[in-house]
Amino acid sequence: MAGLAAAHELASAGVDVVVLEGSDRLGGKLRLGEVGGLTLDLGAESVLARRPEGLDLIHAVGLDDRLVHPETITASIWTHGALRAMPPTVMGIPADPAALAASGIAEMPAPRILPAPDSDVSVAEFVTERLGRDVLDRLVEPLLGGVYAGSTDQLSLRATTPQIAALDDDLLAAAARYRAQATASGPVFAGLVGGVGQLPAAVAATPGIEVRLGATVRSVVRTPDGWRLSVGPTTDVETIDVAAVVVATPAPAAARLLAQEAPDAAFALAAVDYASMAIITYVFDDAVVPEGSGFLVPPVDGTFIKAATVSSNKWGWVAASGRTVIRSSVGRAGDSTLLQYDDGVIAARALADLRDAFGVLPEPADLLVQRWGGGLPQYDVGHLDRVELIERSVAAVPGLEVCGAAYRGVGIPAVIASGRAAARRLLDVGTIES
Ligand SMILES: Cc1cc2nc3c(=O)[nH]c(=O)nc-3n(C[C@H](O)[C@H](O)[C@H](O)COP(=O)(O)OP(=O)(O)OC[C@H]3O[C@@H](n4cnc5c(N)ncnc54)[C@H](O)[C@@H]3O)c2cc1C
Repeated sequence: MAGLAAAHELASAGVDVVVLEGSDRLGGKLRLGEVGGLTLDLGAESVLARRPEGLDLIHAVGLDDRLVHPETITASIWTHGALRAMPPTVMGIPADPAALAASGIAEMPAPRILPAPDSDVSVAEFVTERLGRDVLDRLVEPLLGGVYAGSTDQLSLRATTPQIAALDDDLLAAAARYRAQATASGPVFAGLVGGVGQLPAAVAATPGIEVRLGATVRSVVRTPDGWRLSVGPTTDVETIDVAAVVVATPAPAAARLLAQEAPDAAFALAAVDYASMAIITYVFDDAVVPEGSGFLVPPVDGTFIKAATVSSNKWGWVAASGRTVIRSSVGRAGDSTLLQYDDGVIAARALADLRDAFGVLPEPADLLVQRWGGGLPQYDVGHLDRVELIERSVAAVPGLEVCGAAYRGVGIPAVIASGRAAARRLLDVGTIES
């Protein structure tokens, strides 16, 4: 999506762009697939609406008429043997201590008011010192697990939860104020009737963008006039000469591609870790499930799944099918053992957890296990320093840019923003002309 957003920005300025996609399919983590006769998102499924970039691109490629908002965003935490309505929080920091107490989710000791740390720290260290371990384990950890599939012991406070880092020293009071302002400003998420997985193809249809699938880029080398790319299978490598390059791959591939021309950036990129996960989508004919968008699970509870979304409660267009659609996710950073099971075992164990959480569920009419190896980059403590180093190293090389989830945000609007910014830098310095 980052690379496509860069291509869209360049093509809109009249530049001819070729998108070289290594796989046989466009869109990366945005992907549609068929389950039980329904076409559904198998990767990302919603777009943050509080930032403009996702909605802007949807508008720019003419998908406005499919824009929708969730029917419900009321989520639960599955803990202490029950689904418990999530109290209001700012990324897990309680914004209403009374609601937290009533939920039975976590115990909160008397908060400690401490000054902001001088340097980056882990989310776990910051929260535990101020609000205790239970709030971390049962609220913050499952929420961050949902976004980053990571562990708060490693995740950087500055990079992953700037909202928390920006709260002032009295965390609870600041969270309550932040939350009050946020609820006043419209829907939090958006989606597309038919799935957000439609966005890549719509962007690729922009005049001026040529897409080549199965075109793995193997090297990126400067020439006197621009850049030479080696593309395709090792047995049949093609060279392509271009004026400028935007590297929009995940960090491991970017590290390989930048090794020759921006070695400092390559070295830093090679250190970015990734979490692997799987999304299991179930379609039921006659299931009765509780209201609400789904639930998150604290890792301390030791369940197989880490979250479940009831897509047919969340999205009106899915509900219109008359079926019940549930997607559950498994896999966290540093714990890939669950993903070593075959698909049948993963689907059966996840279904057993769903039955524990929801009560009775019939046999699904159909299901699909979508694995996402290297799905989400981990923004460990110090991540933003690493990103600054990468950006400096790349900025020293004219005609080269990077973008994507490895840098300053993993969500769809953030990666679109990074792609657009990469394109704008190329246009602004005049490296390329229309
Ligand atoms: C399961 C899952 C669910 C998610 N849900 C949401 C959600 O609901 N909302 C949200 O905002 N975000 C969500 N995210 C996060 C978000 O979808 C991703 O962070 C974002 O889409 C990543 O975009 P990207 O362009 O940086 O990278 P990618 O999507 O990884 O795209 C990179 C592309 O580069 C290609 N590539 C790699 N190497 C090469 C090479 N050498 N040559 C050519 N091509 C190459 C890959 O094949 C891929 O197509 C989710 C992520 C996952 C994994």
